[in-house]
Amino acid sequence: MIKKLSLIFGSKTKAEEMVYLVSDAKYVVRQGFYLEELPKIEKFCKDNKIHFVKSRFRVLLADENSYSNKGVRIPESDKRPGMYFCYFSKDEQKAWLASYYELMNNDKDLGLLLGYPKCCVDFFCKRFSPNNPNLQLDSTNMFTNLTKRNEDAVLISHFPCSSECEESIFMGRKHLDIIKSVDKDRTEELINNLKRN
Ligand SMILES: [Zn+2]
Repeated sequence: MIKKLSLIFGSKTKAEEMVYLVSDAKYVVRQGFYLEELPKIEKFCKDNKIHFVKSRFRVLLADENSYSNKGVRIPESDKRPGMYFCYFSKDEQKAWLASYYELMNNDKDLGLLLGYPKCCVDFFCKRFSPNNPNLQLDSTNMFTNLTKRNEDAVLISHFPCSSECEESIFMGRKHLDIIKSVDKDRTEELINNLKRN
């Protein structure tokens, strides 16, 4: 099931985030997409009653998984290939609010709206800078392990304030349970990948 959805969203990680949204484990999801990817995504949203808001600007992202939201913003008229940030929610207001917070560079309220633990949002706001865009820590458990995110295996979509952050672990566990309920093969794949550091 995840594999099939990944054909729409471009990666298993992105597909999984949409499953969390549909399952009400997340209330708002933000992802970056290229213009040509959007028609399939819009159809999925329509079929699943998910509201979808697209940023007016595009971003040249260093990190395609959009952990850091500080890519270089370029206008729609710019010829370079940039990704649009897209905000998804069952609640239309929340989707618009997320796009507004992003536009205003309000990392704190955006992070909270995306459901990230407050400790981790504070950590991000304090530590993140254009010179320090990767806040990845060594991981001690699979639930907060970000080291495999470029190999399409990760259970949380924020930088945890510590590898042992309880709320982040709780979140990772909840997400894995959801994947377990829809896709056994993918669950195994995730566990095998994330157990190794
Ligand atoms: Zn935390």
